Amino acid sequence: MMHATATRRLTPAEVAGEFRCHPVTVRNALAGGELHGSQRVKGGRWTVEEACAEAWVSGRPCEHQVADVVELKSVAAVRKT
Ligand SMILES: [Zn+2]
Repeated sequence: MMHATATRRLTPAEVAGEFRCHPVTVRNALAGGELHGSQRVKGGRWTVEEACAEAWVSGRPCEHQVADVVELKSVAAVRKT
């Protein structure tokens, strides 16, 4: 049974189409880590969760990126420089 909130995954071209930006902009953001996406294989096709794309177009980190930042901060707090 399909859950109502099942995550929709978009290709870079679909992100560009839905959020009215250039596909190259989407790819650059993915490569630079500004836009959170995943590749099944390195150098393979990107897929982006719809929520991550929405966060990116509104200039916010997505929930996964927020989690990463929190993790990095706690690691930095433990390590003494
Ligand atoms: Zn994300």
